[in-house]
Amino acid sequence: MSLRFRVLGSGSGGNATLVEGGGARVLLDAGLGPRQLAERLLSSGVDPATLDAVFVSHEHGDHARGAAAFSARWGVPLALTRGTRLAARLAEEKLPPCREIVPGEDVAVRGLVVRAVAVPHDAAAPVAFVVAAGRARLGHATDLGHLSKRTVEALRGCDAVLVESNYDPAMLRDGPYPWSLKERILGPLGHLSNGDVARLLEKGLGEECGHVVLAHLSQKNNHPELAAQAAEEALSRAGRALVHLTVAPPEGTGWIAVGRGAAAAHAGGQLRLF
Ligand SMILES: [Zn+2]
Ligand SMILES: [Zn+2]
Repeated sequence: MSLRFRVLGSGSGGNATLVEGGGARVLLDAGLGPRQLAERLLSSGVDPATLDAVFVSHEHGDHARGAAAFSARWGVPLALTRGTRLAARLAEEKLPPCREIVPGEDVAVRGLVVRAVAVPHDAAAPVAFVVAAGRARLGHATDLGHLSKRTVEALRGCDAVLVESNYDPAMLRDGPYPWSLKERILGPLGHLSNGDVARLLEKGLGEECGHVVLAHLSQKNNHPELAAQAAEEALSRAGRALVHLTVAPPEGTGWIAVGRGAAAAHAGGQLRLF
């Protein structure tokens, strides 16, 4: 059973990832406006009305901005935690019935199984996702202030991992943000730095992982080259230089296949900066 995904948007301008497998198609987050989301789906060869669900990680605008309007326009149900549903203040009477998800419990969407994992972030009930089709697994973790044991354990079992590499600490410190915002980003409920991701890749990557995607890079507090360099060096230190590395640009990536066959099919160790 094949599993593949493509990032449709990454960063503060809006996050969304399309995942396809097990006869199902779902979105993870809908942080783009509904029209832009539909356009990016169509240019990926996907009719928006054929999606089975939109999973929303948390209520922040860059993840949830387009969720309700997209759901209403295309008749695609939202799937979200109770906390996110309440915090997002959805006009639910206008939407197809929402599906409530509980961290740690599997949600089956046709042959696709989605499990939410609670993560530390300054939102009501934020989650990461592990999406499985057969034996292939994708871990998808954006917006978390630190790598909790639970998150690391969830990602360790994945064949592909998308993780935020939000900021370079020096760029954040010297950058234009007000100090209160810098403190929030740096704090335990903020975002992951390039160094945090490097530690994950060095110590927490599972044996089966063949592809890492760095996502949600700050355009003001990071450079793709810095994020890639920190990740490459960490993979090299861990003896995992053959793991394929992609840095997701704001406008998204092409399709990325997940699983044992997919890892073997890549030109190993080659960095792709879109
Ligand atoms: Zn957030
Ligand atoms: Zn975000």
